Amino acid sequence: MRENIINLSYLISAILFIIGLKMLSSPKTARPGNFYSSFGMLIAICATLLDKHIVSFHFIIIGLIIGSIIGAFLAITVKMTQMPQMVGLLNGYGGLASALVAVSEYMSHYHNQTLYGITTTTITLIIGAITFTGSVMAYAKLEGLVSGQPITYPFQKTLNLLQFFVIVGGSIFLCIHPQSFIWFIVVGVISFILGCLLVLPIGGADMPVVICLLNSYSGMAGCAAGFILSNYCLIITGALVGASGIILTQIMCKAMNRSMTNVMFGAFGKVDSSSIDKTKAVTVQGYTPDDALVILENASLVIIVPGYGMAVSQAQHNVRELADILEKKGATVKYAIHPVAGRMPGHMNILLAEANVPYEKLYEMDNINPEFERADAALVIGANDVTNPAAKNNPKSPIYGMPILEVEKAKTVIFLKRSMAPGFAGIENELFLMPKTMMLFGDAKDTVVKLVNLLK
Ligand code: NDP
Repeated sequence: MRENIINLSYLISAILFIIGLKMLSSPKTARPGNFYSSFGMLIAICATLLDKHIVSFHFIIIGLIIGSIIGAFLAITVKMTQMPQMVGLLNGYGGLASALVAVSEYMSHYHNQTLYGITTTTITLIIGAITFTGSVMAYAKLEGLVSGQPITYPFQKTLNLLQFFVIVGGSIFLCIHPQSFIWFIVVGVISFILGCLLVLPIGGADMPVVICLLNSYSGMAGCAAGFILSNYCLIITGALVGASGIILTQIMCKAMNRSMTNVMFGAFGKVDSSSIDKTKAVTVQGYTPDDALVILENASLVIIVPGYGMAVSQAQHNVRELADILEKKGATVKYAIHPVAGRMPGHMNILLAEANVPYEKLYEMDNINPEFERADAALVIGANDVTNPAAKNNPKSPIYGMPILEVEKAKTVIFLKRSMAPGFAGIENELFLMPKTMMLFGDAKDTVVKLVNLLK
């Protein structure tokens, strides 16, 4: 009877997860979708607590308290711009948890391993370990603890391939000889090392894709752990995370016009100073907000292009105020959203939603690009890579082929940034040197506030 109740609870939570996930795909239903998923998780946790196979309530309560304190602390202190590395780290914890389940199951069934048991345990250990160290490396790269540049060394791919074969060979040997503790350790340790080494040569610009991929891995590790524990809820949840992570990874790859193989093994993002044609260079002249005012006051279509700099300076509320004033003066204002603008998928959508910008004014890249030709001004607020025309014009550029927001087609391009510094990919932007570009140097929020005051 109790087992039926637990299985029914798991089924209800799985249904709630699926409904929640579906609702998360639209901004209008995302909030209730998040609530349904959380409620599903609450049911799953309560059902697990009722299951007699788990540790005592004392341990669960201690774990809950420690976890809640750490979670609440991180939720309050982590800045929005640090979210990608935070997500990366959480993926890593998921992977580590699955790897620990594998170790614990191996130790407790050491003498009577079945083929099914040792196979699921080994798969969980490998995916969990790779996810953990890969995520920690992604975190270290995004946090600046390790260089965001691709780190390459001789025979890198050969070494990784060798480790891969040792893991596969060791796993097969383990399935035949489950009591071979030494091979269990070898497979585990090499998986931990491989996770690190796989992410090391990937450039910072590809980290969003890597984080999504690791998210998928953490789901697969959870799913495999579900098979070890015969926990249907874990299997379903892991499969959902694994599948949604891989779908998001493909969407991101498409947005960057890259294949997944190229992201994983292409060592993309090494600074290439030849990526800019210096023969076309003109002296960069800094403009003032008064200069930009003349353009904005007379504009009938203004397209705002937000990027990472807007997130850093937290200018979103002032940007909305600026847009409101321009609209009152008769201009049409649209927001152009690049899929990888900022530092995480949907970063700009979240910030602009926080500032109550109506969702209908946010345009995806394919929909807004044809409109730049008609725009009197493209107001680029702290965006850089996602506007870089080198992606279209310069086959030598490492971002060549990535779809971009075609701001250079607007009559005037107004750039709000602090300096001539490159963006995340470390590539110079030839747009800064074009005669139709106005560089408004300074913190994005300060500059927008000045523009707002002038327009008022
Ligand atoms: P970029 O990183 O290309 O450029 C941001 C620009 O903002 C910089 O050139 C910087 O110039 C400027 N900036 C920083 N702080 C401020 C400030 N306070 N005020 C004004 N400007 C500021 O950002 P994009 O959004 O154009 O592109 C995103 C990049 O990040 C892509 O390369 C993408 O691949 C990568 N990425 C994306 C993720 C995602 O999922 N969206 C996750 C991780 C990476 P300056 O220093 O001169 O001010």
